[in-house]
Amino acid sequence: MTCYFKSLLIFCSLFWIVSCKSQAAISTIEEKNSPIINDTTFVNLKEYSQDFVFDMKYATIDNFLKAKVYDCAECFLRLKTVNGLVEANKKFIEKGYRIKIFDCYRPLDIQKKMWEIVPNPEYVANPAKGSIHNRGGAVDITLVDNNGKELDMGTSFDFFGIEASHDYPNVSEQVKENRKLLKTIMISSNFNSFDSEWWHYNLKSGLNDRVSNAKWDCN
Ligand SMILES: [Zn+2]
Repeated sequence: MTCYFKSLLIFCSLFWIVSCKSQAAISTIEEKNSPIINDTTFVNLKEYSQDFVFDMKYATIDNFLKAKVYDCAECFLRLKTVNGLVEANKKFIEKGYRIKIFDCYRPLDIQKKMWEIVPNPEYVANPAKGSIHNRGGAVDITLVDNNGKELDMGTSFDFFGIEASHDYPNVSEQVKENRKLLKTIMISSNFNSFDSEWWHYNLKSGLNDRVSNAKWDCN
């Protein structure tokens, strides 16, 4: 009997440790200074490359929420997403362009706010499932030329309508070319496009990572 209880105790302790570990993994942003960095660690893009242009829309009121929902403009992503993005940007730079970033990792609470305003899964992921943005594997981006001017993609970022779809036919040839340029290089850098939003890209290997609600520090 004693032996049975000892085994049970050990089993329960192990279960508790494993549960705690998985809870701790949700707050990986707080561990960004940890010496152990792997593919799924959350990191700040600007610490890995200076070659991006940033226009973090949710750190301003210039977004469909009409609210500044991030305290400061930082682009956190899992390291493997950062690596894919840096690889893609190098290819764009060779062609005279670079990536401009609108959004990166997005805490789950922000996803809930977005869903309240636009409860349409074609444009906003249901927070019950979680967006790849909440997993640190998605980015919203466009391209700028050497003068910093955005390429014409046919609609503004976060335009919730059919015109923002990759397959929408009634856009100019130039817009089709610009979208194709963005899509071709992103796909060759291990991202998937999203049919109804020309600006959204998911890292192919990022779909099953853990949803997070961790917030980043603002100094
Ligand atoms: Zn997106």
